[in-house]
Amino acid sequence: MNTRPNSSHPLPSSNRGSGPVATIGETFSEARQRLRASSPSPELDARVMLCHVLDCTPARLAARPERELSPEQQSRFDEALRQRLRGRPIAYITGEKEFWSLSLRVSPDVLIPRPETETLVEFALEHGSVNARLDVADIGTGSGAIACALAVERPQWHITATDVSAEALGIAQINASAHAIENFRLRHGCWYEPLAGLEFDLIISNPPYVASGDPHLDQGDVRFEPDAALASGEHGMDAITHLVREAGNHLKAGGWLAVEHGYDQQQAVHDCFTHYGFINIIQRSDLAGQPRVTAGQCKRRQARSRAG
Ligand code: SAM
Ligand code: GLN
Repeated sequence: MNTRPNSSHPLPSSNRGSGPVATIGETFSEARQRLRASSPSPELDARVMLCHVLDCTPARLAARPERELSPEQQSRFDEALRQRLRGRPIAYITGEKEFWSLSLRVSPDVLIPRPETETLVEFALEHGSVNARLDVADIGTGSGAIACALAVERPQWHITATDVSAEALGIAQINASAHAIENFRLRHGCWYEPLAGLEFDLIISNPPYVASGDPHLDQGDVRFEPDAALASGEHGMDAITHLVREAGNHLKAGGWLAVEHGYDQQQAVHDCFTHYGFINIIQRSDLAGQPRVTAGQCKRRQARSRAG
């Protein structure tokens, strides 16, 4: 793991050992105060960690500020706060992250699903017919975020999710089971390798696309995430180029490839799709207005299909 934590922090003063336990209100205020120096979202962090430890909703938390934490809750909260003060992402502390309104299990073996990836899900839902039984591949599924969202929205689609990380596939399986998803199977291996002989109506991927020397990799939450989920060669284009180049071997005639990419890779990814014979290329921005998704249909595949 690419973890470069800050200098160590002293124990939070709320770690009172055998002394009196604190109330929710006191614990919240103290944690928020302590997190100010290191977190961009101290209030939210304190609330999420308290809800996690107390297993309650934010509304319940706000309604009972005078409630005391049990010693066990106090010590779990102190440990969570200690981790957060060292920079560990909230999602790895709580072990969960919301994506497409689904609560997903996450661990340091997987990328924390991003809101911008919902743009890719939206594209797939708009371009895949609602009633047809489509074969869809999610390559580099990580936590299974994209695959689970599509499987829940389109129970008649058949989703094949792959990853090179066996640990990630373990998390994806937990998430599929937790949401009672059955139209879903996992394949372990490098890019298209586990899909030999299979063809899809839609291939979708949020591959690693950050340039390997990008300082962003050493900052914030990102420095705790797996390198293999983020970095892809000098220009961040290695995985995308491979996925585009080989897609024709795994797309049915008229099938779509859709990939997520960096906000500054729009032109490079468009050129790549064109170079490898894609037509009807569509580009989409995320909710923040950043170019984020490129999709297209493979001309080479269509020509081959007509000839055969
Ligand atoms: N799909 C998830 C999401 O959107 O949150 C995770 C995306 S993460 C950016 C990229 C994923 O690609 C990681 O789970 C990583 O393990 C996987 N990956 C990296 N190299 C791979 C390879 N050679 N073959 C298959 N998957 C790979
Ligand atoms: N958008 C992510 C980030 O900036 C990168 C995700 C990816 O490489 N697919 O950290």
